[in-house]
Amino acid sequence: MRCPNCKGKDIGKIGTNQYYCWNCFIELTIKDGRFCLHQVELDGSLSSLDDLFEETERRVEVE
Ligand SMILES: [Zn+2]
Repeated sequence: MRCPNCKGKDIGKIGTNQYYCWNCFIELTIKDGRFCLHQVELDGSLSSLDDLFEETERRVEVE
């Protein structure tokens, strides 16, 4: 599994269907075979990054 943002593999599991990319500090949630991407802001809130990615980029690739 690769991060859709940085294509890195430095991804840690933080919960059920929830992952965190330690390379670009993005939270990844898998839903219906697709990533939902959220950036954790300095104040701890989450902002969605889904709009920045194409549908194909958000598809979860199982390796
Ligand atoms: Zn990343």
